[in-house]
Amino acid sequence: MDDDDFDEILAATRRFVRDVVVPRESEIADGDAVPADIRAQAMQMGLFGYAIPQRWGGLGLTVAQDVELAMELGYTALAVRSMFGTNNGIAGQVLVGFGTAEQQSRWLGPMAAGEVVASFALTEPGAGSNPSGLRTRAVRDGAGWVISGQKRWITNAPVADPRTRTPVNNTIIVAVVISILAGFVPLNYLADMVSIGTLVAFIVVSVAVIILRVREPDLPRGFKVPLYPLTPILSVLACGYILFSLPWYTWLAFSGWVFVVLVFYFAWGRHHSALNGGGAGVIGSPR
Ligand SMILES: Cc1cc2nc3c(=O)[nH]c(=O)nc-3n(C[C@H](O)[C@H](O)[C@H](O)COP(=O)(O)OP(=O)(O)OC[C@H]3O[C@@H](n4cnc5c(N)ncnc54)[C@H](O)[C@@H]3O)c2cc1C
Repeated sequence: MDDDDFDEILAATRRFVRDVVVPRESEIADGDAVPADIRAQAMQMGLFGYAIPQRWGGLGLTVAQDVELAMELGYTALAVRSMFGTNNGIAGQVLVGFGTAEQQSRWLGPMAAGEVVASFALTEPGAGSNPSGLRTRAVRDGAGWVISGQKRWITNAPVADPRTRTPVNNTIIVAVVISILAGFVPLNYLADMVSIGTLVAFIVVSVAVIILRVREPDLPRGFKVPLYPLTPILSVLACGYILFSLPWYTWLAFSGWVFVVLVFYFAWGRHHSALNGGGAGVIGSPR
């Protein structure tokens, strides 16, 4: 990365560390966790992928720049650097240097964006400095692997969960609620309600794709909507057409639900927004 861009990153990181993180060090220590808004801001700034090459959406810092950035981050609670340290270092560099092309294209983009947190799991109760003492085994089982063994002191292991990458709790709650409703509400009515919610969600996502392409053209994108802007526009038109063929009582019930949900979001989200951190600017954009 050239010196001018790096100076900007260094300055933004200094502001982030000193203006946002330092005043909240006690909160981090007392809660034994980095608050969600600080995490979201680090994601926006590209800190989850500062040492990952730019072709995978990282900032692509050189080793010397990495060291300078580490000195800025070292000014505050080390838990903050640990949050993205494994993505950039101990885990990320293994993939950059030694991963297969498939592993690199699958993981490095989401890691650079902070959507995935990676760990490097070497240490075991009987194997620290001496890796030849490793006892963990991976055995082929059909198309997958069975891994058995014990690990310890693995940074970010509690949040590095490659099994789901989906909001599991929400999915379970929705499945339970829908199953109960299916026992009491006529199925065609339930199907209409699900359809209207899904169609509106498709429209919101399609419009968001257009807005984000205009407002954030350089955002790292692991997946790009093909034939933009034709696809999102067609999606809005097609979903809108089907929406207006749904019966009036579906619209009425849906409006009621939307009202309740909006009240909930505005009442709760006001104080729990992960993105409403304020403070340091996003790298590469004016504050
Ligand atoms: C905060 C933190 C985060 C960590 N994160 C990770 C992680 O993400 N992933 C991971 O895999 N591990 C992680 N570790 C584990 C760390 O890498 C291990 O502590 C390290 O591998 C050393 O192992 P050990 O503590 O079992 O020490 P041991 O291997 O038992 O060594 C004990 C002491 O003996 C010395 N020693 C060992 N062998 C020899 C030798 N042959 N000759 C001379 N001296 C020797 C060592 O230098 C050390 O001083 C983390 C540890 C900490 C404290």
